[in-house]
Amino acid sequence: MPSPPVLISEADIQIRVDELAAQISLDYADKGDVVLIGVLKGSFIFLADLARKMTIPRTIEFIAISSYGKTSVSTGAVRLLMDVRSNIADRHVLVVEDIVDTGHTLKYLIGLLESRQPASIKTCALLHKAESAEVDVNIDYIGFGIDDEWVVGYGLDFAEHDRALPYIGTVLPADRAKK
Ligand code: 5GP
Repeated sequence: MPSPPVLISEADIQIRVDELAAQISLDYADKGDVVLIGVLKGSFIFLADLARKMTIPRTIEFIAISSYGKTSVSTGAVRLLMDVRSNIADRHVLVVEDIVDTGHTLKYLIGLLESRQPASIKTCALLHKAESAEVDVNIDYIGFGIDDEWVVGYGLDFAEHDRALPYIGTVLPADRAKK
C-alpha cells in the first residue's frame, strides 16, 4: 500500500505546534497550572509535542471516548471509555483533541468535564473540519482548518493504520475500501 499523500508536512506541523504552545503558554501565564487532557487515541502525538513545547506548569491526563470504530462515518453517539485519573475541580483544564469533525465528541467532553467544576475549561484541536460541523462548540485553539476528507498520521488513524506517520496525509475513498 503506497504512503498516503501529504496534506500537512511534518515541518509545517512543528511550526504550528510551536505557535500554539507559545500562545497557550502566554494565555495561561498567570494561572499557575494547566491540566492538559488528551483525547485518546488520536491526540497522543500532538499532546506530547504540545506539552513539551509549553513553558508553563502543566500536568497531563488522558480520557478515552468511543470513536467511529472501523468506519469513517460519524454516528453522533459518544460514550466514555476511560476517565481522567485526577480531580479537576478548581483547576484550569485544556482539552487537547486531534480533530474536530461534527463537534459531537468535543461537546460531550465539555459537558462531562464542566460538571466537575473546573476553574476554567478551554479547547484545542490540531485539525478542524469546519464544513462538517453539526453542533455548535467553541474551539479556543485550532492548528489547521481542513476540508471534509479523511486524514491520517501524527496520531490519527484509519482502522488503526498510519497513526505513526510523521505528517498528516489523506486517505482516498478508494484506498479506504482496500484497508
Ligand atoms: P466528531 O465527534 O467531531 O465528529 O469527531 C471527532 C473524532 O472523530 C476525532 O477525535 C477523531 O477520532 C475522529 N475523526 C474525525 N475525522 C477524522 C479524520 O479525518 N481522521 C481520523 N483519523 N479521525 C477522524
